[in-house]
Amino acid sequence: MAGFHTHITVSSAVGAGYAWWVHTQFGLPWSTSAVAGGLCSIAGILPDLDSDSGIPARETIGFTAAVVPLLLMHRFQKYGLTLEQMLLAGVPVYIFIRFGLGTLLKEFTIHRGMFHSIPAMLLSGMTTFLISDSGGLQTRALKGIAVSLGYLSHLVLDEIWSVEVNLTGSRLKSSSGTALKFFSKNAAANAMCWGLMILAAFAVYEENGLADLQAEATPTSTIVPAPIPSPRPTITQQPVPTFTPIDDPFPGAPPDFRAVPPLRSGTQARINRYENEPR
Ligand SMILES: [Zn+2]
Repeated sequence: MAGFHTHITVSSAVGAGYAWWVHTQFGLPWSTSAVAGGLCSIAGILPDLDSDSGIPARETIGFTAAVVPLLLMHRFQKYGLTLEQMLLAGVPVYIFIRFGLGTLLKEFTIHRGMFHSIPAMLLSGMTTFLISDSGGLQTRALKGIAVSLGYLSHLVLDEIWSVEVNLTGSRLKSSSGTALKFFSKNAAANAMCWGLMILAAFAVYEENGLADLQAEATPTSTIVPAPIPSPRPTITQQPVPTFTPIDDPFPGAPPDFRAVPPLRSGTQARINRYENEPR
């Protein structure tokens, strides 16, 4: 079995690569990519939650207890909680995972049980998708994939470590095939794990359906309301036409065309009479 440090080292390396990949491939901000990489790193020790003693379970539970309230912060924010209320809501979550989960796991799990299985790997990713509520569907899906990837790195390492190589050749240890598996020998554990996975799958499907519905409803909600007329409507003034004097209204006309026509006979006499009239 690969040790705690091997698991965390490999999953951290995978996480770093994954963070770089989502940043360059999907254009996620560095901070979000780093969170996805960090989740992948932590997920690399999650399957050993079922080991009853020692560093793996203790460290894993400690990490999980710290990370889950952080992932829930955005969801709390959506409920309209203040910062103090968010901290208060995070405390019981932390206490439950830190002190309650360990006891429960000790009671109900056996090492290399269904925690080391493909459905558990899928369940971890889907749970992360459901818990982390910040960012769009793509960001949440990428975080979920990060966790499943870290989880998978653990299972693969455990399988690799089950091959014993020595001078006379290689042989499979009895632990071979107990990490990358679909079912265990315990029917109740199988039913529990598969049941939870199917439930989570339905929840993920529902979330996607809701998101689609919201996307459909968005165009109707973004109708621009008619502008409310202000109390004193401003009258837009028509521009006053300006006339530019034309130097020569009849360019190229013959000189006699421009001649002032002579006054008709008697017109000048009438003008004179009018001007001289006493008033
Ligand atoms: Zn393991």
